[in-house]
Amino acid sequence: TTPIETLEFQSEARQLLQLMIHSIYSNKDTFLRELVSNASDALDKLRLESYRDKDLGADTSDLHIALETDAAERTLTVRDNGIGMTRDEVVALIGTIAKSGTADFLTKLKEAKDSAASQDLIGQFGVGFYASFMVADKVTLVTRKAGTTEGVRWESTGEGTYTIEPVEDAPQGTTVTLHLKPEDAEDHLYDYTSPAKIREIVKKYSDFITWPIRMAGEAAEGEEPKTETVNSMKALWARSSSEVTEAEYHEFYKHVSHDWQDPLETIRLQAEGTFEYQALLFLPSHAPMDLFLRERKRGVQLYVKRVFIMDDCESLVPEYLRFVKGVVDAQDLSLNVSREILQQDRQIQLIRRRLVKKVLSTVKTMMTADAEKYATFWREFGRAVKEGLLDDFENREAILEISSFASTHDAEKPTSLREYVERMKDGQEHIYFMTGESRSAIENSPHMEAFRAKGYEVLVLTDPIDEMWVDAVPGFDGKQFQSIAKGQVDLESDEDKKATEVAREQQNKDFEGLLSWMGTALGDDVKEVRLSSRLTTSPACIVGDTHDLSPTLEKMYRAMGQ
Ligand code: ADP
Ligand code: MG
Repeated sequence: TTPIETLEFQSEARQLLQLMIHSIYSNKDTFLRELVSNASDALDKLRLESYRDKDLGADTSDLHIALETDAAERTLTVRDNGIGMTRDEVVALIGTIAKSGTADFLTKLKEAKDSAASQDLIGQFGVGFYASFMVADKVTLVTRKAGTTEGVRWESTGEGTYTIEPVEDAPQGTTVTLHLKPEDAEDHLYDYTSPAKIREIVKKYSDFITWPIRMAGEAAEGEEPKTETVNSMKALWARSSSEVTEAEYHEFYKHVSHDWQDPLETIRLQAEGTFEYQALLFLPSHAPMDLFLRERKRGVQLYVKRVFIMDDCESLVPEYLRFVKGVVDAQDLSLNVSREILQQDRQIQLIRRRLVKKVLSTVKTMMTADAEKYATFWREFGRAVKEGLLDDFENREAILEISSFASTHDAEKPTSLREYVERMKDGQEHIYFMTGESRSAIENSPHMEAFRAKGYEVLVLTDPIDEMWVDAVPGFDGKQFQSIAKGQVDLESDEDKKATEVAREQQNKDFEGLLSWMGTALGDDVKEVRLSSRLTTSPACIVGDTHDLSPTLEKMYRAMGQ
């Protein structure tokens, strides 16, 4: 007699399961992609683990994925002989959603008014294993972790609770059995007990999986059905790009990124010779939920000679390109590399330098070749990319080149610096900007008046990161960045200047009394009170010294207790 425990799903998990059961996705076939993707990951992990731990005692002689259909029972089974899970892992990985940002995501989903908006949102989430509940009203998972003896049986209808119990004779790896929904039985679109249908789905979504996906073929009269391998198993990054279709790249992207939407851009890189590697990278079409969260993951997958080594290899991409997804396959690394070794590895540093340059140049091409695509890229990732202005000196100019900013030139459309420079007025030496909390705060600032009156364009910088890089970056294309809220900004021609100087002297005399009275009245709150030439309609404004912190930065530091 074995104890059966009934446990509750974590509340976020419960909410997602409800969405699955009521299947708000239009394309249900994708559940199989998720199960095969998990099985493939489990095989990758086992191969690596057995390589690292010679005493693991796991059988790695025939690693594969097997699919079985049973029309009479209305079940579909996905089996792998990969790494498997312990009881605690099943509870932690299947019973909860550990993805950071999930709670925020669910709040947004609740707030989404129409179904198109929620479709769009959920498409950004990627529900993984829970996708099973789009097609099944009960799911059974039996698993045994490689190197252990006791297995676990997990079962749920997706309605709030699941049961879990030990099993004696579980094979190594994981078997997921879907008890298909009876209401789909008559619909041939959802006939997941048909081998032909399953073969078609695997071909479409999982052909590139590098492990064999096996299934019983159609049996001839009086014979046992023969087992066939359904997928071609070719690593996409090792095939010549002319052989690979866009749809194949997109499905591969979904496998490596766990995203449910197509990528914005596919990037391929190949290096031959003494140090050989291939890279297949993607720019996603939307920012992940954790782009600005502390516990975010980053990095691409690292393979060595087709063997999966690790997810989220941080050494291959800098922090500011943390949204880039994909695979790097290096030929000359040891299979034993650790994260620590990689950080020091010269070859890895070389690859990283090249990846960065390639990503930046791809975006630059996109700017002119497909402005709309670029606009999406910048909207989703611009704030992250600008962080690179602070820590990637080598590529600073290239990052400025692909950046765009809101500007007073066109309220609707951001401008590149290149375009700004082309529009600069005769005699204008600086690139003018103002930082602030919002566009309206900046536009209504008194600092803006003289610039507006004289027709100078001003960049409107509202991201917190803008406060930091404007102080660190000297200029673009030989022109300095100049805050319109700091120091003395000189907007006049020489002739005007002379006339102004005379007038100014007179005004200074006229207003001497007022200025010194104000200086005394304001006391230590100000350094100085002076007449201004930058105002046209406002009576007064506050300016910082050239080397002072901007008001927003001052606020930030104060909030941090400094
Ligand atoms: P994701 O794959 O994005 O992490 P899933 O919901 O698909 O999310 O899976 C959750 C986790 O459950 C996986 O990360 C993995 O650790 C574990 N898991 C799922 N399927 C398997 C499997 N066949 N073998 C081993 N572990 C698995
Ligand atoms: Mg998954």
